[in-house]
Amino acid sequence: MPRSQQVIPNSGSISFSADNKSGRIILGLISPLPGGVLSALSEHLQKEFSVPVETLELNWNVSFAFNRRRNQYSSPKILNRLKAVPQRTGDKLLAIVDVDLYCPDYDFIFGEADAEEGIATLSTHRLEEGTNDTKLISKRIVKEATHEIGHLFNLGHCEDPKCVMSFSVGDLSQIDAKSASVCLPCKSPAPASRSNTTAN
Ligand SMILES: [Zn+2]
Ligand SMILES: [Zn+2]
Repeated sequence: MPRSQQVIPNSGSISFSADNKSGRIILGLISPLPGGVLSALSEHLQKEFSVPVETLELNWNVSFAFNRRRNQYSSPKILNRLKAVPQRTGDKLLAIVDVDLYCPDYDFIFGEADAEEGIATLSTHRLEEGTNDTKLISKRIVKEATHEIGHLFNLGHCEDPKCVMSFSVGDLSQIDAKSASVCLPCKSPAPASRSNTTAN
């Protein structure tokens, strides 16, 4: 069984098109983020994707997504509930939780994105593993949030290990080694240079 995944649906072309630019990025806080992390994240996402970034306090009790057998929370159930959050056309909503997330067939996931619906999840739970270094944890959160938002902009996984869209396979050292930014080939309009989007 793979240790983790960042689930993405099969999607069409990757583009930072005018359509994509019409919406906002909304950070849906199911769990609070430290103020410094939230402002660093908002600023980074605004720069990276050139759209407004807003915060939405969701403050949900996520017990509806709890799986007692796994002692984890179902990301698909949270995604399903996110569909009910009112959004404007083109908005991208990332729900941030501090509980351990899973989806079927995987031991755990850092996050999951549904580009068609414009919704994604991010768990900070395992990003805090093995360190008390708040700066390092903050960087990991910024990188993985950027990764999931990248999927919502129809970006697939990238083979460049420095690109924020590289696939981390549950490995924190891979997250620590990559940058927080989308590489130029991922941003460029030529589709041939990009890897295809697959659920893996
Ligand atoms: Zn991914
Ligand atoms: Zn890339």
